[in-house]
Amino acid sequence: MTRTLAEVAVEAAGCTKCGLANGRTQVVFGVGNADADVMFIGEAPGFHEDKQGEPFVGAAGQLLTRMLDEVLSIARQDVYIANVIKCRPPGNRDPQEDEIESCTPWLVEQVSLIQPRVIVTLGNFATKFVLQTAQGITRMRGRAYPWHGRTVVPTFHPAAILRGGGESSRQFLEFRDDFELVRETLATLHREPAPEPVAAPDAVIVPDVAEPALEEQLELF
Ligand code: URA
Repeated sequence: MTRTLAEVAVEAAGCTKCGLANGRTQVVFGVGNADADVMFIGEAPGFHEDKQGEPFVGAAGQLLTRMLDEVLSIARQDVYIANVIKCRPPGNRDPQEDEIESCTPWLVEQVSLIQPRVIVTLGNFATKFVLQTAQGITRMRGRAYPWHGRTVVPTFHPAAILRGGGESSRQFLEFRDDFELVRETLATLHREPAPEPVAAPDAVIVPDVAEPALEEQLELF
């Protein structure tokens, strides 16, 4: 039987599949609407996220929340926000291969249960991981990529914007542009008419897009 996102979160809270379990305050599973159209994926929790148990609550998170409000007109609780890695790496070091491998099933299950129409990857790490590319974020951003029946929009990590000069930087304008692209992509999805039910009484109504099975999704990574 399929588990709910809340049930998966409870199980993840006790995860000891990799060494990051030893140094964490708590697992930072994800936050937001389990039925969201748009999901944001970052790298890994930092200091504040580890303490509070919620992704993107520090300065980078405040910038993300502001972009949601100003460009997408969506409240933070109406999207879903998660990281590839659910526990804070010591000193915010890069996640290691074995940690990525151990943690991937949690993200796959999140995507599989939420079924977001649009996924926004924040920064190099999440973009390379989700789109399985070696290209850096500067090359990848500015475009929407079809991905297993959904759309992936890569953009800079908000922490990189803050480090790189904030609102006066060219990167900030591009970051904003990427959020505009998310808005346009969501608007296109909402304009698409729902499939017309067939009039014949014994007609079988088939959904227009088959969602990939969990097994198929697991193969993605
Ligand atoms: N950076 C991330 O990638 N994720 C967070 O949750 C916080 C900072």
